[in-house]
Amino acid sequence: MSDARLNYLGYTKAEWEALLTELGEKPWRAGQIMKWIHHRYMDGFTEMTDISRKLREQLAERGHVRDPEIITERVSVDGTRKWLMRSASGSAFETVFIPEDTRGTLCVSSQVGCALDCSFCSTGKQGFNSNLLAGEIVGQLRVARRRLEEAYPDRTRAVTNVVLMGMGEPLLNFDNVIAAVEIMMDDLGYGISKRKVTISTSGVVPGIEKLIKTTDASLAISLHAPNDELRNTLVPINKKYPIAQLLDVCTRYARNLGEKRTITVEYTLIDGINDQPEHAAQLATLLKDFPCKINLIPFNPFPGSGYKRPHNINVRGFQDRLVRAGYSVTVRTTRGEDINAACGQLVGEVADKTRRQEKYKRIATGTAS
Ligand code: SAH
Ligand code: SF4
Repeated sequence: MSDARLNYLGYTKAEWEALLTELGEKPWRAGQIMKWIHHRYMDGFTEMTDISRKLREQLAERGHVRDPEIITERVSVDGTRKWLMRSASGSAFETVFIPEDTRGTLCVSSQVGCALDCSFCSTGKQGFNSNLLAGEIVGQLRVARRRLEEAYPDRTRAVTNVVLMGMGEPLLNFDNVIAAVEIMMDDLGYGISKRKVTISTSGVVPGIEKLIKTTDASLAISLHAPNDELRNTLVPINKKYPIAQLLDVCTRYARNLGEKRTITVEYTLIDGINDQPEHAAQLATLLKDFPCKINLIPFNPFPGSGYKRPHNINVRGFQDRLVRAGYSVTVRTTRGEDINAACGQLVGEVADKTRRQEKYKRIATGTAS
């Protein structure tokens, strides 16, 4: 079990500058320290030879640099890699690396479990357990980078993109996610461009509203249905924030980014539920003025889900209809299925779900007292 001391992995540049000022040091030392931690993977302070011994001791007294503990690492036949890691809360969460020809995407978790209970998602089925700390979210990238550099010294496999599409709803762990995303995009951190760090949300409208003032990372929304009636049954948070509100706030987010940035619309295709020609037609009408790209995800089954993946021919048919309507549409190929690493298959190991689930469900849907 990790101790409760502050983990510097989650410290943004501004937080370092404030701490250094408080300690009577020059704020520009933030850059030196962050490079030791995020570029050179230093876990202790003794190696930080360009800062004074006194400062090193002061930092070591207040906190530490600690990666989440790796419980298991599995490698799929297709090169996908999945880590099960331990959070400070004692529960476990998952991180997945998906190599492709020209890029490598790391799928990062933001919470252990999820309170939002989408009907087709195994993370949702297990309920909410805990928020990950900023250091635990950044730690997933640090662990993956380190492990990939060890496994591929020629750097043929590396993380070029990060998506917050692992376990949890990122916008219900707002401050930790924002700090982590900032460090991932900072040159003193991991230097990943804002276009290549994507926050995915099921539609927490007030959270997206807050994002407008906070970040310029890319945004994906989990739409999954072209009308409120159907979406209410698949993504329950839609009852609180219906589609029109969601598209409105996303349009403002995209407009605020400028530079022809678009929102990614994720649409999980479930056999006989939301994959019919009329759904494609409705979707084409719904998104007519919305600045987006569409990403279709054939449903990944898990035990007890009660849903089926559509046949490939139906997936292609759905895609074709949208392409003919003028949309840019990709189909996400299923990766890492043999190690249960595909979208919606991440379950981690939740220790005490039932106790906390109800409380957080109320918080998430705004009915908490
Ligand atoms: N909570 C966030 C991010 C995590 S889910 C969100 O909902 O956007 C990442 C993506 O995987 C979402 O688009 C989600 O709807 C999708 N997904 C969940 N379960 C799935 C499943 N069984 N098959 C395919 N996609 C799934
Ligand atoms: Fe939570 Fe996203 Fe799964 Fe819905 S799809 S239950 S929001 S992780």
